[in-house]
Amino acid sequence: MKLYNTLSRQIEEFVPNEQGKVKMYTCGPTVYHFAHIGNLRTYIMEDALDRFLRYYGYEVLRVMNITDVGHLTSDADTGEDKMLKGAKREQKTVMEIAEFYKNAFFADCKKLNIRTPDVVEPATGCIDSFIATIESLIEKGYAYIAGGNVYFDTSKVKDYNALTGHNSDDLKIGVRDDVSEDENKRNKSDFVLWFTKSKFDSQELKWDSPWGVGYPGWHIECSCISMKHCGEYLDIHCGGVDNIFPHHTNEIAQSEAYVGHKWCNYWFHVQHLNDERGKMSKSSGEFLTLSLLESKNVNPLAYRLFCLQSHYRKPLVFSWETLGNAEAAYQKLLKRITNLKTEGEVDESAVAAYRQKFIDAVGNDINTAQGLTVLYDMLKDKAISDATKRAVAADLDKVLALDLLSGKKEEPKAPAAEEIVIPEEDMWIVALIEERKAAKKAKDFARADAIRNDLAAKGITLIDTPQGTKYTK
Ligand code: AMP
Ligand code: ZN
Repeated sequence: MKLYNTLSRQIEEFVPNEQGKVKMYTCGPTVYHFAHIGNLRTYIMEDALDRFLRYYGYEVLRVMNITDVGHLTSDADTGEDKMLKGAKREQKTVMEIAEFYKNAFFADCKKLNIRTPDVVEPATGCIDSFIATIESLIEKGYAYIAGGNVYFDTSKVKDYNALTGHNSDDLKIGVRDDVSEDENKRNKSDFVLWFTKSKFDSQELKWDSPWGVGYPGWHIECSCISMKHCGEYLDIHCGGVDNIFPHHTNEIAQSEAYVGHKWCNYWFHVQHLNDERGKMSKSSGEFLTLSLLESKNVNPLAYRLFCLQSHYRKPLVFSWETLGNAEAAYQKLLKRITNLKTEGEVDESAVAAYRQKFIDAVGNDINTAQGLTVLYDMLKDKAISDATKRAVAADLDKVLALDLLSGKKEEPKAPAAEEIVIPEEDMWIVALIEERKAAKKAKDFARADAIRNDLAAKGITLIDTPQGTKYTK
């Protein structure tokens, strides 16, 4: 199979380090808010890669972190802590916020048929390993202490800009806030491995360390969690394109400094989902969630189809109209497959031939759109029986994961476009509405009532309607 590698900027033949086995690492969500459908595009396309590798015959070990500490609002090691920002917004502790949004993330993944990675590791569970790695980096001369913090010295690595292919001074990707220069740094691109001092709000979660009480930087989390489970040699590292710099660039620098050789061979990056205002981002405060799509009559798997219809390396523009088309196409597809007769012989050689066509299509740099074309062509094929068509659809669905044979068929409804934006200042209300819904489902009526009463005390009234709970201020 072929895969585009951000590191070489070329499509390459994929060859794992160990024959038949793939070690794959995915940057997990920062759990201070709901995932938006842009984040979910990245996870859907990474899931397509994961599923395809298994379908192709590889044994896959997939590891994902949960960023519950250390991710700042600016990726340039400046700015407010995202988790603390979420906790303040919702008047909860950081761990409460992390638990709530982690569960919300996996609930979304389940609806989208995104496999849970084999290992999911929250950063707060690996502090000892971060400290041990940082100690070793200091010992090897790659890190230094200044102003109470530990920094990675990027001048010590040979090719710091290999992943971006640019001089990092020119790069503004991922920098979301105003960047003020940190005077402790020896080089502009140096980054914090361990904070004991921050000019911003103090972290709620802190741990003892050889450098004082503090907390880890974001980048070290992914390197250590990957190495803990996948060892010194990683085959594929995934993320959205905004992760290329500085996050993945810094991961490579510190991991290779630590292990003393090349660390990861293939870098898989998913392009962004944009809306008419540009890139969808959590920190901008205005974004679409999967629950919001559902409230507009969109089946989550129609959103999966919407993503699979485009190549992961092309930016995808969201509009209610194109999503409505995907919903209609999804329902039509389900109807077509449900209407296939179940009796009759399955022609195994035809199943194998379509399997090969599908592998050729998707195996060419995870071209899921071409994979869907194979499915549509197969459904039109007059030379094969309905039973064979069903068997092929079931087989291809191991990668497409669209519930082709069991999906809930509904009459397509055009999603309603009004009220699409949840303002940042109201997201905490939406979070509490979700929590109340979960409490009611778990028959914890005391908690559900307490949420309603707390909101009422703040002047917010909840109205339960057949379409879900609405609120007025
Ligand atoms: P975060 O929760 O902010 O750490 O992001 C989770 C994942 O979503 C990361 O891999 C990001 O690169 C990715 N991501 C962020 N914004 C977008 C977007 N608009 N479209 C696609 N992926 C995104
Ligand atoms: Zn990461």
